[in-house]
Amino acid sequence: MGHTDGKRRRDWILSPEPIPASGDVPVVGVLALQGDFREHRVVLGRLGAVTREVRRLDDLADLDGFVIPGGESTTIVKLMHEYALDDGIVALAGAGTPVYGTCAGLITLSRESVEGGAQTLGLIDIVVRRNAFGRQVHSFEADLQMPVLGDAPVRAVFIRAPWIERCGNGVRVLCSLQGHAVAAEQGQVLVTAFHPELTGDARVHGYFLDKVRAHMAAGGDVVQNVTQLGRGVVR
Ligand code: GLN
Repeated sequence: MGHTDGKRRRDWILSPEPIPASGDVPVVGVLALQGDFREHRVVLGRLGAVTREVRRLDDLADLDGFVIPGGESTTIVKLMHEYALDDGIVALAGAGTPVYGTCAGLITLSRESVEGGAQTLGLIDIVVRRNAFGRQVHSFEADLQMPVLGDAPVRAVFIRAPWIERCGNGVRVLCSLQGHAVAAEQGQVLVTAFHPELTGDARVHGYFLDKVRAHMAAGGDVVQNVTQLGRGVVR
């Protein structure tokens, strides 16, 4: 083993998750306060992104994309406030960085929930109904058409999922179930009420990474129509 190999090995041990110097590999942060953040990392990694768990403000630096996982939105929102991450996430989205939220992540990104209570980020102009399909025992899977992914339906896993009760004009509905929107986007913000990170189908994450790569190709400074919509509602 030559000197260089040894040095490389030591560097690897010191930096188990090296961020590539090359500018063309997307670096995606995954909010890792609670919920299924590991599953998102696996899918994004399979698609060629480098991922970073985000728990502190510093972890948001230089990200090309950001994901808020499924879990429990009240817990995620509470910890996000406690860790003083909300302003950083809003600033990241305001700079045009693509953001994707699944289930509890969708709720966290919404303008408000019909139940009120949690102070959400207001990064997509939707009002959500939490636990809209029933309790945990009513969790289910369905094959849904999501035209932006092509003709093959997407296997959608709903776990005590919300639906989108109302959307603002700027929101594009991507997929519906029982007459309610369950996937949508507004500019660089993408949300699904279901969990593509729990199936083998990586197309939703691929769709998100297309946004991330387009943002990177544009030099990361695209002027976006992401505006913060008045930070949630506390009732
Ligand atoms: N029911 C949860 C909430 O309201 C979301 C569940 C999930 O992320 N699978 O936050």
